[in-house]
Amino acid sequence: MGSQLGFEVKAKDIGARVGLLEVGGKKIETPALMPVVNPKREVLSPRELAEEFNVPVVMTNAYILLRDEELKKEALDRGVHELLGFDGVVATDSGSFQLMQYGNVLTSNREIIEFQNKIGSNIGSFLDIPSLPDAFRARAEEQLDLTLERAREAKAEADFIVNAGIQGSSYLDLRARAAGEIGRDFRLCAVGGIVGIMEDYRFSDLVNIIATVKRNIPLDRVVHAFGLGHPMVFSLAAALGCDLFDSAAYALYAREGRYLTATGTLHLDNLGYLPCCCPVCSRYGLELKELDKDEMVRELARHNLHVSFGELERVKQAIHEGSLWNLLSVRLRSHPLLLSALESLSEHGEWLSTLDRITGKSSFYYLGPEAEYRTEVINARDRLRRVDSERTIKMPPFGDVPLELTSIYPFVSYMSPDSVEREDVYAPVRDIERLRAMMDYQFGSGAGSLIPERVRIKNSRRTGRMRWVYLDGELIASLRASDNWIIPKKELALRLHERFPYPLLRVSVDDEAKPFVEEGRSVFCKFVLEIDDNLRCMDEVLVVDTDDNLIRVGTLHLSPGEVRDYGRGMAVRVR
Ligand SMILES: [Zn+2]
Repeated sequence: MGSQLGFEVKAKDIGARVGLLEVGGKKIETPALMPVVNPKREVLSPRELAEEFNVPVVMTNAYILLRDEELKKEALDRGVHELLGFDGVVATDSGSFQLMQYGNVLTSNREIIEFQNKIGSNIGSFLDIPSLPDAFRARAEEQLDLTLERAREAKAEADFIVNAGIQGSSYLDLRARAAGEIGRDFRLCAVGGIVGIMEDYRFSDLVNIIATVKRNIPLDRVVHAFGLGHPMVFSLAAALGCDLFDSAAYALYAREGRYLTATGTLHLDNLGYLPCCCPVCSRYGLELKELDKDEMVRELARHNLHVSFGELERVKQAIHEGSLWNLLSVRLRSHPLLLSALESLSEHGEWLSTLDRITGKSSFYYLGPEAEYRTEVINARDRLRRVDSERTIKMPPFGDVPLELTSIYPFVSYMSPDSVEREDVYAPVRDIERLRAMMDYQFGSGAGSLIPERVRIKNSRRTGRMRWVYLDGELIASLRASDNWIIPKKELALRLHERFPYPLLRVSVDDEAKPFVEEGRSVFCKFVLEIDDNLRCMDEVLVVDTDDNLIRVGTLHLSPGEVRDYGRGMAVRVR
């Protein structure tokens, strides 16, 4: 069955991930956008897409190829890559969209699967049945049953990576059932039937559907938000863990004179100015309106793609530095109905917070009351309970934060509208008191007591902040400059190991991996036997063997749930 799909996570933030997808030896960085090419009405050719946008993957419609005698023959003779003149990854759709639009299609599931096998699709689809939003429940159920039957057929017959559609209309229990079944059998899961929801700006429903799917599939599955091609939702969908988007919108919108921006859609006719400086907008300015129709459509489609890829880069950078919430806070204010997604996001906050990283390089900006819902706030509040202090400072939305913690992430980089007035609070705390409170915050109540009075703390000459901690002449910890996170060395790790019983703070590995970890190599997910659920991505962890002997200290690369679900890839970067 199917070809192999590799997926490796490079960076995480909220539920989002920057990953490396490997399809038939070709690599795609995610979140990725697949421009859709209509083989009968190409607005931009795949070659142009490759040259101008460097796209590694395009999507086209196998059903359209199948139904056109000439295209069908050419696709069968030369393969879909040659037909398109594109040597990257080609994903094909099955006609499901036509099925939804016209109510029936002139092919069968078996025929469209076989056709995709023959034309060499790298990623393909079975003929799933997208139910309309708010379809009658009985109807949605019936369509789902048929979809799942077709999925089983695809599992047996497809030679390509199956982009397995998860349907269920707006019924979350149906979505959960579909996700459970599809997620068990397929590595690439597509959240289908969401275009109508997106077009109606039902962002709250969108959040609930994506979150329901994510919560019911293993975390290592690659998730495609099928038909989601508007850049205004990329940050939201990525935050919920979507890895792939496809856009037919860039071309469809262009035909109607619609001009995409990262915050919404404008109409070219209404524009007195172009709020963009992509090559198209810089070159034509308002003369874009005066071009003849075909050329205008082409150029507007190019602009639409520039905007889409630009937003995708912004999302990836935000994940990379851990500032996706800052970007979301801005994007969700693009439209009142987008803002309504916040409430749904908050309902999934507890779950999302288990996936989020615990520290980051970026600033924590207080950008409004939705900060309450931020996953890093949920995590930080949880850890604040570990720390005892009489001297606190108010930091909404965290609440009362011990003065001792003002130099550790996220409090160290906290910025709120009234931050300027409280510069002086950093002065009165002794370094050792700070260090102990930070130990409690990072590792658990009582960790601070492992720091005896006689330690010697050396500060950075440049920043004046704590950098190194010595005990009896031995370096027992250093503090990372970017977030002031405590990195324990051997002696401190041993003390933590003694103070906190198994499985706290630990990642235990099997005997096969032990010699490699001893040498300082990373711990891979498949060798992990057990992991403490209180840990978060980016935490410092104790790597132990089956008898709970401490092997090494390292940084957790994924969330505990992900470590369990991922069959491959790095779990802990060992120091
Ligand atoms: Zn532009």
